[in-house]
Parts: sequence; structure tokens; C-alpha cells
Amino acid sequence: MIIKESNAPKFVLYGEEIDIWSSEYLPYHSKTPTEYVIEKILESEKAGVDIFPSVVGKHREKELIKNALLSGSPILLKGPKGYGKTTFSKAIAELLPKKILAVKGCKIYDDPTRPVCFSCKRKLLEDKVVELTWVPRIWVRIPGDPMMTTRQLIGGISIQKIREGYDLDHPEVFVPGRALKANRGVGYFDELGALPSAMQTLLHELFEEHQVTTLEGDILPFKISTLELASTNPANYRGTNPIKEPLLDRMEEIEIGPPETLEEEIEIGIRNMFYRKWKGEEPPIPRWHREIVARIVRYARDKNKFEFTRRIESEPSCRATIKLFDHLQSKALRSGRLVPLLSDYGENLEIVKLALMGRIEVEFGLSQRKAEIVEKLFEEAKRQTCRQIYGSLPGEKFAEFYEALRSAGEEADGKRVITIGFEVLPKLRAKPIINEYVEFLAGSREVGEELYLSAIEIILEAMATCIPRLVERRGKSYYLGELSHEASM
Ligand SMILES: [Zn+2]
Repeated sequence: MIIKESNAPKFVLYGEEIDIWSSEYLPYHSKTPTEYVIEKILESEKAGVDIFPSVVGKHREKELIKNALLSGSPILLKGPKGYGKTTFSKAIAELLPKKILAVKGCKIYDDPTRPVCFSCKRKLLEDKVVELTWVPRIWVRIPGDPMMTTRQLIGGISIQKIREGYDLDHPEVFVPGRALKANRGVGYFDELGALPSAMQTLLHELFEEHQVTTLEGDILPFKISTLELASTNPANYRGTNPIKEPLLDRMEEIEIGPPETLEEEIEIGIRNMFYRKWKGEEPPIPRWHREIVARIVRYARDKNKFEFTRRIESEPSCRATIKLFDHLQSKALRSGRLVPLLSDYGENLEIVKLALMGRIEVEFGLSQRKAEIVEKLFEEAKRQTCRQIYGSLPGEKFAEFYEALRSAGEEADGKRVITIGFEVLPKLRAKPIINEYVEFLAGSREVGEELYLSAIEIILEAMATCIPRLVERRGKSYYLGELSHEASM
């Protein structure tokens, strides 16, 4: 049934009569979600803009998704937990208008020109005036619940209400399930494979013809307009169930992998930090700590990186990155700082373990060595970050810089000692060459106390890593030997 300008009743929106075919209201009705999405994609291709700005990186995935959407296919997002499948589904929903016009009181947000439920059909045919309302963009998550019933998934009629004397088309009688609640928006079937197979069978029709029928066949079929998306973990991954072949056949499968680069890993981690949501600002974690954190997680995913990473069976997702950033920031806050120091990873790396222990699985029989594996991940991530920092320091003035550091230290054991703490800052800041190195590393002329201390710490740590005969760390102190003993840097 289609309502046109010629056969339409009067439409009233919040007490005022409106012309829904005027340019003011036209963008908000008469189109399916797929039509809206296709329009947006074509527009963006012309303008050359990224239509999924909320998804970091993932160029390959974005291209495939755009293509599948343009062909009007339901999409199955496949990948381990925490790689952004839900984020993608929401990013797709963001291509829909922020709000749509719907028949007021309709449980499935009927389009005033294309009603689906009986109640709206009757209203639009018989009533002289039909009230409308704005409905915000629709994104409905339909969880892969093994206990899901037809009533929950598709909906049904309330026998109780009929007994009470209501008509079959009374809105109280018809109770839509989640799949119908996604009408005119995105229906996201999260862990599709976990739905009982009978429920999966019910979805064939929905995914192919956008139509649903209950087994009882009572009041349906219903032709709805939903953009269907689904997610699944790869087969043989913990806690997943297979998706039935005929259902798989009706979807385009797109794999969502881990972030490709270190920068993307960092961006995703920082963007999703609790601190960022809480304070609404960029967390003050310096670049070197961002790299250490992201490397810890990325090494754990790379079986060929080190001998010990072969023993990791299930890789940590971006949630590990996010949580590690969260815990590191929290530890710094508890220590009375905003900027983290190396000590904030914990004396025994408790912070790293907190974020990672529950998120990786190791080979059978090695569970007691998990903590050790996490410690190695941290050591390697720190070592690599320190090597890069050491390699990036300006070489021509290094001797002068090193001597300045020594002169700022205390005398002990025939060496000069710098202990990481705010007390040492005035001495360091008094030396222009040290300021120069710190500003170089921090990438700014304005370096606050905490960032200054963190930069000095990582420079000293980098020297302890790369020139261990000259610089040695003991606890929070760095012992600096005489440069002349070292022939070349
Ligand atoms: Zn309706």
C-alpha cells in the first residue's frame, strides 16, 4: 500500500498540519534504509570523502562494505571480538538520516506513505487526520541468544488482549519482536550463529525478501524495510555456533581484521579510552607510552614475532589496547600525575597483567607461564620503543647532552645518578642542551613538568637499553658512567 499526495489524509506533526511532500519533510519518508545508504555512498564517492569516519583505518573493509551495500546485500561481519564489528554496524547506521517521520504510536515506526502494520494501514485509509512524529535514527541490536523465541525475534499477537475484546488490528494486540523493531533502520544480528536454527530459518525470508512470516502464519507476512547486518566470530573460535548454510548464502561475508598499523592501533585505543569519554579530552599519554602499549598487544597477535609468541593461542583484540591505556592512565592519576611514568606499569607489571591476562590464551599446559609471557611482551615492546627513541636522538650534540645529564646527577659509586622524580627537574631544566633534547622528543617547545619528567625517563631508559655499558638502571635510578670510556656511540 502506497499513500500519495492525491489520496493522503491531513498530516499533523506536534499539533501543526504539515505538507510531507514539501522540501522540508521530503527527505524523511518514502525511502528505505538501503536507498538512503546508497544515496550517501554515491554522494561521498563523488566528493571523495570517507563515509565511515568513526572507523579508524580499515580501508579494505570499508571498500568491501560500500560495495555490498550498493548491491543491497545483507552483510555478515566476520572477525574476533573487539575488532570493531559493532562500531562498523553503527557507522553504517550513521548513513541514515538523523530522524525520520513516522505514524505516531506505531510500534514499528511506519512510514506515512508506506504503512506496514494493519493499524496504520487502516488509519491512513480511513482517517481524515493522521498524527505523525519524529523518530531518531534506528539501530537495533538483535543478540544471538540461544533461547530466543519467535515472539522475541519476529513478534506476535497477544491472545490475552483479544480475549479482552480488542480487535485484531488494535495496536495493543500486535507486539513486534526485535527484527520488526528495526523497521526503517539497521537490524544488527550480533552473533547470528548463536540463534537457534529454527530462528535462523525464519530469517531466510527476511534477508532475501525483507519479509517475515511467523510459523503460525497468523497475522503476517509483513514486508518491512530494514538494512540487515550480522556478525560472527570465525569458526572454531571459543563460544561460537555455525550459521546455517542457506542463511550464509544470502549474505556477503566481510572479514574485519585487526588494525593494520601501529598508528591505527594507538588511535583506536586512545579514542575509546574511558578517560576520553569521562573528561572529553585527549589523554595526556606521551607518544612513547602509546607505542609501548600498542606494541605489547600487537606482538601478542604476531605468532612469528618471537619464539614465545608462538605459544599464544588466542590473540588479544583492541579491547586489550583500550583497557591497557585505561589502567595505565588510572595508575598515573592515583600516583598524583596525569602523565604516566614507567613505574605506572606496576612493580611486577600488575597493570599490564590486569589488561592482558584475561584476554590471551596460551598453549595447553602453559597457563602457569602466562604471566611470564605477558612480562616478555612488555619487555620487548619497551625495548623496541627505546631503540627507536635512541636512534632518533640528534647525534652530533649527544656528548654534550650526556655530560649535561651527568652534571645534573648526584655522585655515587664513581658514577652520576639521576633518580626519576620531580626534585631533579630544576637541575635538568637549567641546562639548555637538555631542554633541547626534551623538546625535540616531546615535539613541542612548551613542555610541562610531568611530560618533561616522562621524556627524561624514556631517554635514560633508551640509553640503558642501547648503551648498557654506559647507563644502567637500578630501580628508579639511572647510573651514568663516563663517556670517555666508550669509544664510539
Ligand atoms: Zn504502523
